[in-house]
Amino acid sequence: MTNAVKTAQQWLNDADAILVTASNGFSISEGLNLFANNSKLATVLGDLVEKYNLPNLLGALNFHYPNELDKWRAYARIAEYYNYNYYPGELMDKLRQIIGDKPYFIWTSNIDHHFALAEFSNQLEIEGNWQTGICSKHPKEHSLIDLKEALHQIYEKDQAGTLTEDDLPTCGECGAPLSLNIPGSAFNMDQTQVNSFEKFLTTYQDKKILVFELGIGPQNQMIKAPSMQLIAGNEHSHYLTINKGQLNIPRVIADRAIGFSSTILEAFNALITGKGEVETQGPAKPEPRLSPKARQKQEKIFKNFYPSYTVNKGYRPGELVMYATIDHDHPSHLHMVQYGKALMYSYGDPVNVHCFTQDGHYHLVKLGLNKANDEVHGFYVEPNTFIAMEDANGVTGFSQISVTLPSSASNEILIPKKQQLKKMFPQQKELIDRLSVDN
Ligand SMILES: [Zn+2]
Repeated sequence: MTNAVKTAQQWLNDADAILVTASNGFSISEGLNLFANNSKLATVLGDLVEKYNLPNLLGALNFHYPNELDKWRAYARIAEYYNYNYYPGELMDKLRQIIGDKPYFIWTSNIDHHFALAEFSNQLEIEGNWQTGICSKHPKEHSLIDLKEALHQIYEKDQAGTLTEDDLPTCGECGAPLSLNIPGSAFNMDQTQVNSFEKFLTTYQDKKILVFELGIGPQNQMIKAPSMQLIAGNEHSHYLTINKGQLNIPRVIADRAIGFSSTILEAFNALITGKGEVETQGPAKPEPRLSPKARQKQEKIFKNFYPSYTVNKGYRPGELVMYATIDHDHPSHLHMVQYGKALMYSYGDPVNVHCFTQDGHYHLVKLGLNKANDEVHGFYVEPNTFIAMEDANGVTGFSQISVTLPSSASNEILIPKKQQLKKMFPQQKELIDRLSVDN
């Protein structure tokens, strides 16, 4: 047994609570791949694959079918295969074994509803699930409907060739057609789930919480970024991530993080038995901390980077959204935050965001609403990237953008050494001179 596995076992053992985060890598390990185009697709969806040239399951869910019957045929066939006939396998069993009797919560973007079907109770499905219906006319007002039985009935009638429009489910409150409650035309995150997640976080975010990350891509902004921020802001917390060949552990949490570059099953087995050869990364040696005086100095220069800003409660628990206003005379100077952050266009002129990555690349990202001008509405800045932002000289003379910050982290700002950066990026010399704080 490697030391890292032993340490990970210790962290799990010591944790006050476990926050399991899971994305499509976990579903794939369970044999469900939304993106795959293979023979299984025809096994699940039958003649619909050829009829509509469906590329994969995700395509089948989002396809604009010419009639409601075929749409619900597709939904029902997927649900029959992956939900009605779903039997939780060893991954779910072993996950339960690892969690033991600790308080836990599952935070997932998987729409397959498998954690619920495996009888885990506390979960937030941030992209909903394909077994729940939502009123297409009043998605915010009318109640979500469990479609498990209805989808099975549709499947049976579809197979028997007797399916008619009358068999399709409708909103119990207004009779409007239902949609599946997944991102699309009508979607509303289950508010009961949201409330219990907030409660879990309020209870444990300052305690010994352990984030147990299963199959989440390295650039995931919806779950990975905020959960790493949660760890960054709490020095009693720990972070275990499993992602074969794709570990991404930012420096700011590296001393409290262990990555498993293995399959989820191999990592589970190692954590349960303490045996087996798994490739691990971390934990790193802790880094020296900023002195109070140095921190004070940093707070003072904060103003150089965001001359005018307000801070609001974020969209997700444990997160703050800062609205920063910049104009021609007040750009946001070159700086870096150690963890990643999401930038979103909010108001006013487009914004030019200059990004200097650690591996020596320069990118200009234009934040705005005009796709024809290559503007994007928002993007995620990877950890350890230096950025500077300028108003793009539009009609209003100023720009407002939102920046996502962890609510509990120190939000330290790092300033690049101007000369060194110019050496690394000779092409951007002028830009660096213009946007550096004197140092
Ligand atoms: Zn309704």
